[in-house]
Amino acid sequence: MLDLIIVGGAAAGTGAAVYAARAKMNFKVIAHDLGGEVANSGEIGNYPGFNETNGIELSQKFNDQLKFNEIDVETGVMVEKIEKTGTHFIVRGKHGTQDKSYEAKSVILATGVHPRHLGVSGEDNLYQKGVSYCSTCDGPLFRNKVVATIGGGNTALESILLLSNIAEKVYAINKNADFKGEAVYIEKVKQLKNVEIISEAQTTGFIGDQMLKEVEYKDKDGAAKKIEVSGAFVHIGIIPNTGMVVDLGVLEPGGFVEANLLMETKVPGLFAAGDVVNIPYNQISIAVGQGVTALLTAQSYINKLGK
Ligand SMILES: Cc1cc2nc3c(=O)[nH]c(=O)nc-3n(C[C@H](O)[C@H](O)[C@H](O)COP(=O)(O)OP(=O)(O)OC[C@H]3O[C@@H](n4cnc5c(N)ncnc54)[C@H](O)[C@@H]3O)c2cc1C
Repeated sequence: MLDLIIVGGAAAGTGAAVYAARAKMNFKVIAHDLGGEVANSGEIGNYPGFNETNGIELSQKFNDQLKFNEIDVETGVMVEKIEKTGTHFIVRGKHGTQDKSYEAKSVILATGVHPRHLGVSGEDNLYQKGVSYCSTCDGPLFRNKVVATIGGGNTALESILLLSNIAEKVYAINKNADFKGEAVYIEKVKQLKNVEIISEAQTTGFIGDQMLKEVEYKDKDGAAKKIEVSGAFVHIGIIPNTGMVVDLGVLEPGGFVEANLLMETKVPGLFAAGDVVNIPYNQISIAVGQGVTALLTAQSYINKLGK
């Protein structure tokens, strides 16, 4: 049986895996893909050691380091359930339609988050055909076009600021009367000449055949409205990828994993690191650091089990 399974192969998973390899632990990494949200991070100017890089380049560097350390990495596996039986864990998932299961004495959960969807008509069909959740990734595709953003927090505000430099016009659709982000961003957005703020508006659908053509919304009086756009960027929050541990009782009400400073969860032998953890800062350097912490704590846990 493995000593450790690391679920997730991006920032937190790589941080943990490199330390595990150098400690010669008996472990493997299982991940759906190796990019995670790191690959979607666009331009990155705040990761130590790099003056400037981008998500694709940095995740490639992470992958190179996994290979350099000859780490056993299995990608394409979607983990669906983690169970604890006695002192060990069973990790169950799917590779395509094939069932997979693995056993280990400990698990580090490093599965990150995914963007919340609106759940309105056309959203899924027009994803990557105009509908996007990442302006740093897809914004440049809309140079001199008309786009909309949906959301009112910091991510939406940053997206509006970015898109206003690229697009001809940005409609900023917000369901509340005002934005709820940092004052400095709100001020900047309100001064932009090519941004039209549509407040108290409920987005109801995306219209288009091959590509997005219109966003539908209800205005504050409940009247149905449409705006013509080429792109729409949805920024209404994030959802942690924690469905596989719901039954283990380690989640806080928002669905993030409750972990202490040593990255221990309430279940002995289960550790968590990165965006999936209930701290409000989602950054690559934090995820890497937490991955390393989780690994060192897991190593000490395994050593004690062996005695
Ligand atoms: C648009 C954008 C811009 C950003 N810009 C920056 C920036 O400039 N600087 C910065 O420091 N941070 C930035 N971030 C934040 C950064 O991307 C995250 O903090 C970082 O990616 C978190 O790493 P992670 O390893 O915790 O999760 P992720 O990078 O999300 O990786 C999760 C891993 O888990 C795997 N996984 C998920 N679910 C499953 C499952 N069920 N089964 C198997 N595998 C699974 C994925 O395949 C992936 O390997 C940005 C984020 C976004 C969205």
